[in-house]
Amino acid sequence: MQSVCSAHFTTPKLTKKKRELLGELLDQFTASVNFCTKKCVEHNVTSRASLHHVAYSEWKSRFSLATHWFHSAGQVATQTLRSWRNLCRKGQADPKKPPVYEAKTMRLELWSDKNSTGICKFQGNTVRIRVRKGEHLWLPLLVTEHHEQAYLRDWREGKLKVGEVTISLSKEGANVFVPFKREVKPKHINGVCGVDINERSVDLTILKPKEQPKHVKIDVSKLSAIRHSSQLKRKSVQKKLDAPPQRPVQKRRLQEKYWRRESNRTNQILHAVSRQVAEIVDQEQVAVAFEDIKGIRGSMRSKQKSANGKALRKDMRRRLNQWPFHKLQFYVDYKTTQRGLPTVEVSNYRKSKNCPICGRYNRPNGHAYHCLGCGFEAGRHLVASWNIAKDGASHVPADCWQMQRAAEEELVAQEKLPAEPEKIPMQQFATGF
Ligand SMILES: [Zn+2]
Repeated sequence: MQSVCSAHFTTPKLTKKKRELLGELLDQFTASVNFCTKKCVEHNVTSRASLHHVAYSEWKSRFSLATHWFHSAGQVATQTLRSWRNLCRKGQADPKKPPVYEAKTMRLELWSDKNSTGICKFQGNTVRIRVRKGEHLWLPLLVTEHHEQAYLRDWREGKLKVGEVTISLSKEGANVFVPFKREVKPKHINGVCGVDINERSVDLTILKPKEQPKHVKIDVSKLSAIRHSSQLKRKSVQKKLDAPPQRPVQKRRLQEKYWRRESNRTNQILHAVSRQVAEIVDQEQVAVAFEDIKGIRGSMRSKQKSANGKALRKDMRRRLNQWPFHKLQFYVDYKTTQRGLPTVEVSNYRKSKNCPICGRYNRPNGHAYHCLGCGFEAGRHLVASWNIAKDGASHVPADCWQMQRAAEEELVAQEKLPAEPEKIPMQQFATGF
């Protein structure tokens, strides 16, 4: 089992010469990716090896870069094309329009001491990029205490391995993203925890064989409060600075400041909540099951009536569209993987509508759920997390379980009246704002 964590480094202000070289490399990389994409589509090629076969000599005559730049660009091109083809299959992209790479970033193959291939070498406090034979670009990195403790110490001891480095230009220097991979020993699990992420709470249901289900509710209503207040703030800034005399520079600076502040505060809460979830899961020794939230934005954006006959109101759509579902799920996912526990994703089909006890389909009325079949009553978020956990139990690979995997009926204890979920108030954050 491997857990990957990406570290963000910045460089000090670069000299003019280095900046120009880096900018040129970024342009060349973008052009190479687009060249590879074109060749892949022309020759109907999907793998990097066949791309090399059809396009390498032409690339080499056009670009004066070390050979492995072609490999790095080819990697990005084939990956982008793969996801584009998937989107085409689903009817979400135009099959006649292949993707154009416009990102001003480059992902470079690693060059380690063991293999002499690759073009980028991570050396702790510098990144060395091979441009062409005999020509290198050194980027010094600003290493903080956090980098040292979280990554570099273990990296030097060989516990962490470095992946492909991503580089982009920033205002004065460069951004360098280094993924660190850690081998974690997988733990055996005793059960499954379903995670349902909602606007005001994160609901967990922990199912273990021959045990009563356990419900935990983590309050995250502070997130919407933060967003609301900073929205008001930005609005008032806009109003004040739009009045004559116009001050576009100040306006932009202030707006940026409030965006940054909002995202810092939000991220801090997301990290704290995801750590809380990971700690609960670790304590209980259970696997984590998420709802598949791909396309959640698409379903909210549509003005068409949803299944229950109501379209979401505009302000509701806006509120939910700004909710960082993916981010929170991503944080929980990597924090649990770091602790050696497996995570699974289950379909989101009728998760808050089917009764977790008898399986009957009911339409929930607002937040309350009442089963017409067996009389089960609970909050709909609890029902959703329970169903996710139930479904997740069948998705976790059998060799993860500590004991012989129990039959599903055993896993879900029969219970008419669920206990009130254990409510965890949001931790008091020393935000310093
Ligand atoms: Zn029922």
